[in-house]
Amino acid sequence: MLIETHAHLDYPDFAQDFDDVLRRATEAGVRRIVTIGTSVESSRRAVDFAEKYPNIFAVIGVHPTYAAEAEEDVITPLRELGKNPRVVGLGEAGLDYHHLPSVAAAKEKKVQVFARALQGETEEEIEASIHDGAYKSRQASLFQQQLDLAVELGLNVVIHQRDAWEDTLAVMRPYTDKLRGVFHCFGGTLEQANEVLDLDHLVSFTGIVTFKNGAAVREVAARIPLWKFMVETDCPYLAPVPFRGKRCEPAHTRLVAEAIAAARGVSLQEVAEATTEAAEKFFRFQR
Ligand SMILES: [Zn+2]
Repeated sequence: MLIETHAHLDYPDFAQDFDDVLRRATEAGVRRIVTIGTSVESSRRAVDFAEKYPNIFAVIGVHPTYAAEAEEDVITPLRELGKNPRVVGLGEAGLDYHHLPSVAAAKEKKVQVFARALQGETEEEIEASIHDGAYKSRQASLFQQQLDLAVELGLNVVIHQRDAWEDTLAVMRPYTDKLRGVFHCFGGTLEQANEVLDLDHLVSFTGIVTFKNGAAVREVAARIPLWKFMVETDCPYLAPVPFRGKRCEPAHTRLVAEAIAAARGVSLQEVAEATTEAAEKFFRFQR
């Protein structure tokens, strides 16, 4: 049995063949799917799925790249949703500096995306008024609010971190021993993995471990202790080989686990059991 710990089932990519997607997951041995919210609306859809399907559970939160367009108060609606026993975590929350305004401004296409998010302002105004500092502090505030809510609700947190390692750990530091996080789609070094594992957090791996250019992360997945990591797909993104570039789906969790088992020189069953146990402890599916 496998647990897919990070899917975005509410994305339109799955609207056409949702039941087939679930069937293929079951056939691949994926018995539970954690679907992850990226906004208040997306979180609401995640909870709807979790209420409807016994093998789907919801994690609710606002993704850092939606920080600029998120409503002022996301905590009140998230708190309401979080009372639902089908909610098993907060997230995905964290910091993402991959598209800083200074970088975005350099690429006209991205400026337009940004402009749309901040309706009514011209590109010049955006460039002048929104700079990296404000962008980062808005993300940090949103992250912190969600960590506070996680403590309040007694939930663990799915962490999204991109190009913001030090700042992410700094925001999380006061919460050590109050909650656990999983650094999802882990792509860091062995030292970074050990750094968070030492704080009793987890990491989880996606289809990147199957990529030809995924040797570094495969090596990390081969070397950290079992029970310290989980498996996921981050679908519809990051389809593992041989589906790379196509739509990803929860059934592909098996390919992720197989690649890790091969890298470690152990059986799929061993990885399946350890990652399932780690996920059950982390998400506590029966609250
Ligand atoms: Zn995600």
